[in-house]
This record gives sequence, C-alpha cells and structure tokens, in this order.
Amino acid sequence: MISAFNNAQKQLSEVIPFLEKEYSDKKRFIKAVSLLKKPQRLLSKKISIKLDNGKTKTFKAIRSQFNNARGPFKGGIRYHPNVTEDEVKALSFWMAVKCAVVGIPYGGAKGGIVVDPSKLSQNELKKLTYAYSEFITPFIGPWIDVPAPDVNTDGQIMAWLLEAYEKKVKHQSPATFTGKPIELGGSQGRTEATGFGGVIVLKEYLKKKGINIKKTTVAIQGMGNVGFWFAKIAKDEGFKIVAVSDSKGGIYNPKGLDVDNVLREKEKSGRIKSNITNEELLTLPVDILVPAALENAITEKNANKVKAKVVFEMANGPTTPEADEILESRKIDVVPDVLTNAGGVMVSYFEWAQNLNGYYWEKDEVLNKEKKIMIKAFNDIYDEVKKRKVTYRKAAFNLAIKRIIDAMMLRGWV
Ligand code: NAD
Repeated sequence: MISAFNNAQKQLSEVIPFLEKEYSDKKRFIKAVSLLKKPQRLLSKKISIKLDNGKTKTFKAIRSQFNNARGPFKGGIRYHPNVTEDEVKALSFWMAVKCAVVGIPYGGAKGGIVVDPSKLSQNELKKLTYAYSEFITPFIGPWIDVPAPDVNTDGQIMAWLLEAYEKKVKHQSPATFTGKPIELGGSQGRTEATGFGGVIVLKEYLKKKGINIKKTTVAIQGMGNVGFWFAKIAKDEGFKIVAVSDSKGGIYNPKGLDVDNVLREKEKSGRIKSNITNEELLTLPVDILVPAALENAITEKNANKVKAKVVFEMANGPTTPEADEILESRKIDVVPDVLTNAGGVMVSYFEWAQNLNGYYWEKDEVLNKEKKIMIKAFNDIYDEVKKRKVTYRKAAFNLAIKRIIDAMMLRGWV
C-alpha cells in the first residue's frame, strides 16, 4: 500500500538541497528539518457509541498536530473507512505547508475517524461526533488547534463538534471550529471557497501560458464539495468541462457536458449517470485533469497514460512522488494541492477572524479577499518556478518550508 506520509516526506526531502544553501548555520537547519519529520503531537483513541440497535461499537479516532510554529494548528476532520494514522499525519503536514504557501498564520493539523458514515443513522453520527469532540477537547481551542470539515464531514458535523466542545468548556467558542453553518458563526463563501480559489489559480496559470479559457477542456475526478464547486464555477467562467466523476463512475462527452444538468441529476439520484470508469477519466485526452477526490489517484501505474497537458490538483495528495517524476519528464505541469485548494483554509481563516471579532463580512468581501491572496500566492510560486527552474510543487514547498523553518528558528526551537 502507498504510504501518504512517506510521499509527504519525500516531497520534503526533495527541497532540502535548495533550502540548505539559504542557511549559513547548517546544524541549526538540519535540526529544523528533523522537526518536520513527525507531528508534534499524535493523538489516537478508540471511541465507543451505542448504536440504534442497542449494541456498542468502537471506532478509531485520530488527530495529528503537525507543527504550530506559524500559528495555531489547523486542519479538517475526515470520516472514511480508509483513514489511517499514516494518512492523517501526511494530511497534517500538507496543511502546515499549505498555510505557509498562502501566508496565513496557522500551523498544520488533521483528524479523522475510521468509519463509513453512510452506514450510520443521523443519531449515530451525532453521537460519534460528540464522542470525537470529547476526545479532542483538551487539545483544541481558537489559539491551540482549529478543526474544520474534510471528506464526508460538513457544517452539521461542525455544529455537533462545537456543541459538545462548548458544553465541556462551559462557554461559547465559535472560533474553535471553522466550516460551521452560517447560523452558528460560519462565513459567507466558505462552501464554495475551495472550488472558487482553484478556478482563480487555474485562470492565472492559463493567463501566464497565454491559453484561452474557452478552448480549454477539463476533466474532474470527484464531485464532492471541491469537485462540485470547481465544476460549477469553471463552467460559469467559460471552461469546457468534458468529464466528471464520483466514486461510482464518471460521464464523458468530448463535445462538452451540460454540467448543471449532470449536477442536478447527481443531486436527485445521488449518482452520476456513468459512461466511463474513474480510471478512464484520468487518462482522457483533455487539456486540464483535475483530481478532486482522494489521495494517490495518479501513481507510477497510470502517470504514463495521462494525456492531459496539465494536472491541476484539487484533492490533497492525488499525485504520488513517483508519478510526479514521470509527469515532469513528460513535461506535464502539475499545479500542486498546497496552492490550488488553499482557498478552503483561507476562508476558514476569515471565518476564525470574524468569530474572534464578532463582526461578519458580506460574501463579496470574503471572496474578493480570497481572490487577492490566491493570485498573490500563485504569482509568488510562479516567480520561484522561473527563478529556480523547478516544478510548481518544488517551488511551493521551497517557499513554505522556508517560512516554517524561519518561524521555528525565530522562536528558538532550534
Ligand atoms: P467530499 O466528501 O465532499 O467529496 C469527495 C468526492 O470524491 C465524492 O464525490 C466521492 O464520490 C468522490 N470519491 C471518493 N472516492 C473516489 C474514488 N476512488 N474515485 C473517484 N471519486 C471518488 O470531499 P471534499 O471536501 O470534496 O474533498 C475532496 C478532496 O479535496 C480531499 O482530498 C480533501 O482533503 C480535499 N480538500 C477539501 C477541501 C474542502 O474545503 N472541502 C479543502 C481542501 C482540500
């Protein structure tokens, strides 16, 4: 099985030779890098709930707090049967990198429960979420660690986490969680923030390359929060979406899809009317391939078959380092997750700031602020790509790891 954390560490090791040159005190630098080889804290516990049928069931719950040199730990909570400590650790590392890439004052964290939420009733899901909240309560808070949604978790889950947390700490604390429903202090624009930010970055990228949006074909794997909003916004911007998929399969039409229709159909029946498999979607002859589902979608097994000109990562960790090398040798640009999907954590940061101030912004203000920062982050990375003649991922990691190491050094950790 592919280890996401090994992949993450490989990505780290690849930028060390570049960064090393920037620090005169090599010993201090090596010590700083060693602190990025494991999370600062890894919490893991079996949590139990009583099911509707009266039986007790136990689930593994995890929270990885990777690094907080640049600010409170920050990262989502995933409910999925394939969640492992390895995956959660990797995702928490990528969160630290992502926050540093876009320059928001957070460290990195991630959490998860090994569970298939579709097999639980609403009542069971609520109990499980309350139990998870109790497990992490001593270790979270607005200035400690701020969880958020991830795969299979949403505003309702955040509302339950918040309720259980506030009961325990005995005061209101909306800034402890982001991705909350608007009624409980959520931010305008959070729902579409990740997809919106991705489309902004894609447009900037194409502008630099002198490519016309209207002539650009796109295939998107994954139709959850990220894939759905990416597809909807990209279509409104004039991109030609030719394929989309969810876990059950995908639909392809080289002439272009009526995305609204596909999405409506999925909302109605719960699935996409398929004519291709997920694997086939990844190798379609398109301009832009957007993996927006889970990690390790593009591996050494299929990277040679990718026909897209650009892989635009919207999921976290969808391309393995081996696949990265293959794509690089084939001159296929990979625009990395730590930049492209940072819009989500950015609006989470805006939500946190609004909660701390008790003052709320209009949606336009939120999205305009997001747009400005995403464009700047892309341009910082683009300049680094040009300056160092490296891939977009290496450029992003260079910038981010340097920012994290500088913060650790300033604090005197090394
Ligand atoms: P989600 O649970 O809303 O949706 C996941 C989607 O992926 C679903 O459509 C599901 O059917 C599909 N899927 C699952 N397994 C698949 C498979 N094997 N092949 C194809 N499709 C599959 O999750 P999301 O919030 O959209 O997150 C998707 C990815 O984006 C994850 O990697 C997540 O960590 C990342 N991400 C999410 C956000 C956010 O704001 N939600 C922010 C940054 C990164």
